[in-house]
Amino acid sequence: MKIEASKKAFQEAQELIPGGVDSPVRAFSSVGGTPVFITEGKGAYLKDIDGNEYVDYVQSWGPLIFGHRDETIEAAVIDAVKHGLSFGAPTLAETELAKMVVELFDSIDKVRFVSSGTEAVMSAIRLARGYTGRDDIVKFTGCYHGHSDSLLVQAGSGAATFGNPSSPGVPADFTKHTLLAEYNNIESVKQCFRDSKDIACVIIEPIAGNMGLVPADKEFLHELRELCDENGALLIFDEVMSGFRATLHGAESITGVKPDLVTLGKVIGGGMPVGAFGGRREIMAKLSPEGPVYQAGTLSGNPVAMAAGHAALTKLKSNARVIDVLNKRAVRLVEGMREAAAKEGITMQVDTRGSMFGFFFNEKPVKNFQDATESDAELFAKFHAGMLDRGFYFACSLYETGFISTAITDAMIEDTIAAASEIFKEVKNG
Ligand SMILES: *Cc1c(COP(=O)(O)O)cnc(C)c1O
Repeated sequence: MKIEASKKAFQEAQELIPGGVDSPVRAFSSVGGTPVFITEGKGAYLKDIDGNEYVDYVQSWGPLIFGHRDETIEAAVIDAVKHGLSFGAPTLAETELAKMVVELFDSIDKVRFVSSGTEAVMSAIRLARGYTGRDDIVKFTGCYHGHSDSLLVQAGSGAATFGNPSSPGVPADFTKHTLLAEYNNIESVKQCFRDSKDIACVIIEPIAGNMGLVPADKEFLHELRELCDENGALLIFDEVMSGFRATLHGAESITGVKPDLVTLGKVIGGGMPVGAFGGRREIMAKLSPEGPVYQAGTLSGNPVAMAAGHAALTKLKSNARVIDVLNKRAVRLVEGMREAAAKEGITMQVDTRGSMFGFFFNEKPVKNFQDATESDAELFAKFHAGMLDRGFYFACSLYETGFISTAITDAMIEDTIAAASEIFKEVKNG
């Protein structure tokens, strides 16, 4: 496959934009190679500037559950554009989307719209702190909650649960209120509650998608809920990725564990920049202007973005079986790849939740970030390059989740498995 135009474009972009990209994962750093520059998407396909076409399993990192240029969403956006791009005043579109979110999530009585997942999480945490009057928060290693300061943390020295900044530019003072626990390990959370009596909230991806796909055990989530209740801390489910992807009614509907606050993003904007956070009435009542916890946004609830989100959620809701259909394809894809790999003596760990799928080149089941890091990164890089070359666009990091859209057909899935099988054979034969 020729990607000369992309190579040239990437060089030029690097002169003007740090790393040539506006979000680091796009740069292909962890797999080597050159990111392809995209001109357009249609249905299941992406087209690059060299004219190559790819079956897209990235879906803009999650939002496009109906594939590229879904007609309903596109029409809704065009109609909204014709009425004006932004007003900075209330619109009916916001109430309509809010109604939909409140109907779909049992735990959400009220919701506030923002423009990204990062903003949603940052605001939800401020609200949790304002509501409880406490400063500390607990997060899990390997969970990603956007790039706000207090969430860019890594394990501190020794056995301490208090985190250190994981990025220059974040003062240590800003992360000293963030405690780190291990995913699926309730003992590590208990340790946090022993280390601090000032924990406002525990934030978790109930279906983690940012260390590869690693769903939390049900029992672990139940115990987490109990620990939060015993200690007067709020439980926040970050469903920016899993919301409307894993199930239509949130992780609470498949785990039976109700969070106090939920953060949303990605699918909720149908491809436009939308984030949201919501929860119980009395907690949301603390939010400005109803309450004292400040939060604002010039483009929050933007009418064009609301129209895209509303069209996407309406379509999902009126087509209740769609997530099951997508899950069947996701299961076939990962099981097919796993069997093909096994034939060549390669062990894969695979899992799905609704339209999300994950796979690790790993001998052991993956339960947390440490397990994920023990996967074969070199083999993943070969897999990624080989698939791209054969016209299949997978996320360029082994720590990402894959997505099935309604535009991806059973035949495309079979072609994908066949291509993966070729790569596994090549790998085996050196
Ligand atoms: C993508 C993501 C975010 C950040 O959302 P942005 O829109 O990229 O700011 C936060 N939390 C989770 C779980 C995500 O997957």
